Amino acid sequence: MATLLEPEEHVLSTLNKDGSRNWLRPKLSPGRFLLRRRIVAYILIALFTIIPYTKINDKPTILLDIAHREFTIFGFTFLPTDTLLLALFMLCLFVSIFLITALLGRIWCGWACPQTVYMEFLFRPLERLIEGAPGRARKTSGLRRTIKYIVYFICAVYLAHTFLAYFVGIETLFQWVQTSPLEHPTAFIVMAAVTGLMLFDFGFFREQVCIVMCPYGRFQSVMLDRNSLIVTYDQERGEPRGKMKRKKKPTGDVALDVLQEETPAVGDCVDCKKCVTTCPTGIDIRNGLQMECIGCAQCIDACDAVMKKLGRKIGLIRYSSQAAVEDGHWSLLRPRVFLYPTFLAILITAFIFVFAGKNSADVVLLRGKGRPFMMMEGGMVSNQMRVKITNRSGVVASYTLADNLADCELVVPEGNPVTIDPGATKTIDVLIVSPGHIFSEGSVPIKIGVTSAALNVEHTYRLVGPDESRAVEKTGDTP
Ligand code: SF4
Ligand code: SF4
Repeated sequence: MATLLEPEEHVLSTLNKDGSRNWLRPKLSPGRFLLRRRIVAYILIALFTIIPYTKINDKPTILLDIAHREFTIFGFTFLPTDTLLLALFMLCLFVSIFLITALLGRIWCGWACPQTVYMEFLFRPLERLIEGAPGRARKTSGLRRTIKYIVYFICAVYLAHTFLAYFVGIETLFQWVQTSPLEHPTAFIVMAAVTGLMLFDFGFFREQVCIVMCPYGRFQSVMLDRNSLIVTYDQERGEPRGKMKRKKKPTGDVALDVLQEETPAVGDCVDCKKCVTTCPTGIDIRNGLQMECIGCAQCIDACDAVMKKLGRKIGLIRYSSQAAVEDGHWSLLRPRVFLYPTFLAILITAFIFVFAGKNSADVVLLRGKGRPFMMMEGGMVSNQMRVKITNRSGVVASYTLADNLADCELVVPEGNPVTIDPGATKTIDVLIVSPGHIFSEGSVPIKIGVTSAALNVEHTYRLVGPDESRAVEKTGDTP
């Protein structure tokens, strides 16, 4: 059927001109980078699986407890009161990413991103194993496809459980697995939804996550400069492209060669398109740096193999920089390479400074709800106050509240000391009863001390009461 409205130019590598999906089945190109990426990927998969089981300081290595707004990272727990610390930590992370991208381009995407790691080193290998290598299995039987999706489903269930372990902890996850879903329907629905998403992602959406969804790919254009490490095609060396012909070796094997005699000015690229057919995002790196390039180096391995067969120098496609390829020199020292580490150092110093100032508990004094103060019998004044304590220590702690004024009585209706579980926050209602005469100007400062086995802090609080001086002025009873 004729296409009604064809795009004037190429839009997406995963899109055919008629708008249908162009399913990519990248060919595997063995080589030095594939080997290294494989090692890195399997180490990362092992780490991702093991981390939920590990502990540092008796706490999970990583636990992102969204329900309780507590994030444990490498044994340190960020509590809801640690907004500044968490913000500094996140800023450190972002600036580090900026720095790594400025220096090494999209190295994260091609080598360490879970999307690439699981797609290229778990799901695609399984696909090749079950359906056959691309190009050979022209038509995949329904049985093979069914087996593939069953295996994918098992992998997705495993991945969803591992993923959830980072948010609920491995103990809770085990508890859920061993009991009926009816006992924890919400958790089961979340697990089923994550499994469905994994299946959709790795079974259907695939490389489109990198091409159209991931915000990091969009950001790279502002984070990269001409000296950043990227996968580049050496235009000068490769162009004009030669025509490739196949000739028989004396042994009968097929070898690659080019018609050098017919086209003497020919470049090193023989237009075999192996760099294109191996690309997991379906692009042609010979068209220059593109947003879709995840820097995975598969095209380097593919082209190197061709160059070796032709007896030519490898590296027609290589890790390099735009500046190095176009101008012949590369510069490490440039403003952003100084600015990012400087900013990072400032952030790390601020983080350490704030972190070092943290006690074993956070104490915040809040004014009570309702009237600012109440007059009581005998000229006594009562102030309501709330003391919010977050126990940051890893053990149950008892906190004793006291004030520094001899005439004042500090009343804690729920009892003094107050016991708080590790990591928990409690807001304690406190009543401070004081004689009216101390309020010479409508208020008086008081020190509230909070002590426990590991804590001894004092905060200033301003009690409010009747303004005695005004009362005197009103009656005209001035001395
Ligand atoms: S162009 Fe090369 S480095 Fe970029 S995504 Fe494709 S194969 Fe990977
Ligand atoms: S693999 Fe190398 S030789 Fe073949 S088309 Fe790509 S750049 Fe040219």
